[in-house]
Amino acid sequence: MNHLLGQRAQEYLKQLADCSASEIGVTRFPFTPEHKRANALLTAWMQEAGLSVHMDEAGTLVGRYDAGNNAPTLLMGSHQDSVKQGGAYDGIMGIVLPIVALDYLNRQGRKLPYSVEVLAFADEEGVRFPTALVGPRALAGTIDESVVDRKDKGGTSLRTALSDFGLEPDKISQLKRNPDNILGFIETHIEQGPVLEHEGLPLGVVSAICGIERHHLTFTGQAAHAGTVPMHLRKDALTAAAAITIEAEKLAIKLPDLLATVGQLDVTPNVPNAVPGRVSMVIELRSPVDEVREKAGKMLQAFAKETAQLRELGCEITRTYSQQATECDDSLQLALARAIVSTNNRVHHLPSGATHDASAMADLTRVAMLFVRCKKGISHNPAEYASDQDMGLAIDALIALLSDLQC
Ligand SMILES: [Zn+2]
Repeated sequence: MNHLLGQRAQEYLKQLADCSASEIGVTRFPFTPEHKRANALLTAWMQEAGLSVHMDEAGTLVGRYDAGNNAPTLLMGSHQDSVKQGGAYDGIMGIVLPIVALDYLNRQGRKLPYSVEVLAFADEEGVRFPTALVGPRALAGTIDESVVDRKDKGGTSLRTALSDFGLEPDKISQLKRNPDNILGFIETHIEQGPVLEHEGLPLGVVSAICGIERHHLTFTGQAAHAGTVPMHLRKDALTAAAAITIEAEKLAIKLPDLLATVGQLDVTPNVPNAVPGRVSMVIELRSPVDEVREKAGKMLQAFAKETAQLRELGCEITRTYSQQATECDDSLQLALARAIVSTNNRVHHLPSGATHDASAMADLTRVAMLFVRCKKGISHNPAEYASDQDMGLAIDALIALLSDLQC
């Protein structure tokens, strides 16, 4: 059966991919005509699946499969928005698959002992406005209400965008949910990396969402003529930057669960015939284990200072950003693992290196994530792809999970 349901999900995602501001890939920012068109499709499919649908004041489309009698509620879903010229699966697949799973249960006339809500969050990527995760933060009651005054590049504030979308931004603070009546939040998402494909597995269970920290580092030496200053008299800022880049890589290979990236480097004067006098760079660390990340950050700060001393350079290093890891709930992970086993697949647990709506939902309730293999690990790219078969297996797993979950 999974293949047919997977094909249906693929067909839905194709229609949603047409709700795009760009011809190439999918560009669907929050509170745009594309968002409205995608919501219209999702609303129709939710209603067909027996869900009652409304949009909350933060722009989250909510489809409810109601069990009545004050039954507790399981939350599922993900985000509808994409990056600029992104793919057709990131986020929105995690809305479509639960709808198809609930539709299947509804057609079977199956009643669940709990209600289910499928949430289509407006904005996870944070591309349009200099904020993100407004929907889940509103539910968790962790939203900073001043974010509605932030503006997009065209000068439109989030407040205006919400109002133009028919919403009342002043009521966002009333969306906070009572956690006592919530069973948890389960987000289905493409992996956005190559691990499941490498393992030959269609599905995976997320163990934790990585914490992140960034260090801004500047080495200051002396810009000089590349032909006249001998090697031993140079104060080259770039060789110091290279040394710490390699050190970060070594550390990430040595310490378990650590990812280290130097993705941004500004070299001055950045010409072929001058010794670089100044380098500003950003070292980013991610880990599902906060202690590992923090230890690595301190080690790299010390290494930067030693390197600067050794090479007689100025050095300024500051940790400019840090975000804690989100643990996925053990019993929900077990429930997902059982559901995967029921599809005759081996269970693989892996951390998520990317942030998700689940990170913000963790402030409200326990969270778990089901990862679906994506082709070559490609994401945030028009080439993003998950197969009918893999999505069909994910739907089967969700059906098994919904059927077996204890409340
Ligand atoms: Zn996403």
